Amino acid sequence: MRILLIEDNAALARGLTASLRASGFAVDHVTHGVAALEESELVPYNLMILDVGLPDMSGFDVLKRLRQRGATTPVLILTARAALTDRVTGLDLGADDYLPKPFEPAELEARVRALLRRGQGQAAPALTLGGLVFDRSAGTATLHGRPLDLRRREWSVLESLMIRAGKVVTKERLSAEVFGHDEPVGPNALEVYVGRLRKKLEPDGPTIRTIRGLGYLLDVS
Ligand code: CA
Repeated sequence: MRILLIEDNAALARGLTASLRASGFAVDHVTHGVAALEESELVPYNLMILDVGLPDMSGFDVLKRLRQRGATTPVLILTARAALTDRVTGLDLGADDYLPKPFEPAELEARVRALLRRGQGQAAPALTLGGLVFDRSAGTATLHGRPLDLRRREWSVLESLMIRAGKVVTKERLSAEVFGHDEPVGPNALEVYVGRLRKKLEPDGPTIRTIRGLGYLLDVS
């Protein structure tokens, strides 16, 4: 699950990034609206957390351009302004939720989870392969009827491979979907998660093949 945080208050952004990462989300952070529009075109984010008062443009303008472009990514608006008109403007422009500052991190996280669940429910039916059933709406995976105990990163890796089952997923692509841009990640982090996933899928689940020099492939045969 990858989140783009657009917030120019450095202290707030640091705190939010740390707490969301601690909960297992991949988080990218930008401070300007223009950067948000650029980033969101390059990376398939699951959610955007958007401050209204940005240095270069209003968060409402960012939202407007996103929706004009046809982007359906859920957007949670943060605003210091308590005015009701702000809230109405945001929702009119296609925001999915709205959180006035100041707020408790736990409150933000509860809303983030709710939005992600909603987004998944709309866009993501259960994926099946062999005996593996990967239910993105329910957040559960089973192998021949047995529940699979997956950590969040393992879940992200498997999700990325399941969506493209039978096709090579490059390491770059996989990393982009599992980790944040500036997240300190060791060179072998991806291999570690893939290794753990393989153990959990053995012996009767689908095989994750390493395609040397390229990436990974979830075998459909
Ligand atoms: Ca601001």
